[in-house]
Amino acid sequence: MSLPEIISRIATAEKAAGRNIGSTQLLAVSKVQPNERVLNVLGQGHRIFGENKVQESQGKWPMFRESFPDAIVHLIGPLQTNKVKQAVQLFDAIHTLDRLKLANKLAAEIQLQGKSPDIFIQINTGEEEQKAGAIPSNADQFISDCLALDLPIKGLMVIPPINEEPSLHFALLRKIALRNGLTGLSMGMSSDFESAIALGATHIRIGSAIFGARDYS
Ligand SMILES: *Cc1c(COP(=O)(O)O)cnc(C)c1O
Repeated sequence: MSLPEIISRIATAEKAAGRNIGSTQLLAVSKVQPNERVLNVLGQGHRIFGENKVQESQGKWPMFRESFPDAIVHLIGPLQTNKVKQAVQLFDAIHTLDRLKLANKLAAEIQLQGKSPDIFIQINTGEEEQKAGAIPSNADQFISDCLALDLPIKGLMVIPPINEEPSLHFALLRKIALRNGLTGLSMGMSSDFESAIALGATHIRIGSAIFGARDYS
């Protein structure tokens, strides 16, 4: 698929859901992709990207930003507390706040650097052991703890379990966000973004459908 095709499918899904065209932000997930593919998408005018590793991003985004200073990069992968300083320097948004220790570190670093990246709290709606995120029964408490730290919390993020109907998880994420007064919903990937848009996604994260398959070799 191509970028224009994805953009047109997003618009169709927004229209079908009775939403405004352009109300969903598309994060082009550029992790692991060769630089020329990323530059190609930048060259087509796209400006919002998702990355899942701090170190990998440090190796390429300062360089891309020399030619494209208005590029916006969101961290969508796990964040270790010892990388918080670099993450706050580099990213415009962080989607993976999942524990109090990280929340405290982020709050301190954001103050220190005088920056204000949009923060999303990751929710483990499937309660999967190997997956990061607050479980639904702890979500309200964790969200209020994060808000009490004055963090710029924009919304919630989910990665649904692989073998379950994603829309159930999107609906649960939306419900948790609504009852906590949060409007951002980071949900939906290459295979399920249309149902995420139907359920109110504000940020969808699409990699392979834009760039082609990732080559980890
Ligand atoms: C890699 C990744 C994506 C994009 O996945 P694709 O299948 O390439 O669309 C979305 N969200 C997260 C958190 C990711 O790590």
